[in-house]
Amino acid sequence: MNEKQENILGIPVDILTMSDIKKDLLTYFEENKKMTLTSVNPQIILMAETNEKVKTFIKESTHKIPDGIGIVKVSKWTKGKIKNRVAGIEVMHEALNFANEHQKRIFLLGAKPEVAKLATENIAKEFPDLSVAGWIDGYSKMNDYDIVSKMNQAKADMVFVAMGSPKQEEWLMDNMPMLNATVYQTVGGSLDVISGTVKRAPDFFIKTNLEWLYRSCVNPKRFYRIFQLPVFVIKALNWHRKNGEQ
Ligand code: UDP
Repeated sequence: MNEKQENILGIPVDILTMSDIKKDLLTYFEENKKMTLTSVNPQIILMAETNEKVKTFIKESTHKIPDGIGIVKVSKWTKGKIKNRVAGIEVMHEALNFANEHQKRIFLLGAKPEVAKLATENIAKEFPDLSVAGWIDGYSKMNDYDIVSKMNQAKADMVFVAMGSPKQEEWLMDNMPMLNATVYQTVGGSLDVISGTVKRAPDFFIKTNLEWLYRSCVNPKRFYRIFQLPVFVIKALNWHRKNGEQ
């Protein structure tokens, strides 16, 4: 196992900060290498136990973002080195900043049509120097071949996939090899937030690392996630006891 990674329930998670990501964005563009940023949180790790595609996607991603307080806590309790949560939506914001500074072309895939449209408009307003190469909602009937062709024809440099897990990870696993963009990020419900349709948790919840709890309480579809966290913690601590440093 690489020194900049930790193994949690058999899934690698990177020990990284936002400034590492900022530096790497430049390097990957300079070296013309594909960069995949994926959020790893307790829910996704539990999903990866039974979904091989999600597991492989995470393992093959260049940046496995520790995006959950459950990850940070398990790392601490197993004497690991992941000290801070890096929120996927904040990584997306940095990536958009980068696109703005370097006049890159971005493409969005996911969310409901009106949400994706609003998110695109808000991004264009906030980051006037990047180009929105295109967007496709996450319920479109277009087939993957046509979506890939559209992204390539639009000369997208950065692709953000916002279809929730496991759909977004599976989509990138299947289609990334055919795409010409440099940066790929799975961004879950971020377009809902950027569009203004869904609010991020109040600051208190973000600062106290309880954003997941707030979002689980206000969204009935997420309520079951409250129970996933203790399951994840118990499984991860047991796994560590059996497998130790890997
Ligand atoms: N979504 C989509 N296509 C689908 C299912 C979901 O584009 O077939 C979108 C949904 O509209 C929402 C996002 O995926 O914008 C998923 O959000 P969720 O809160 O479930 O994901 P998380 O942030 O937890 O990964």
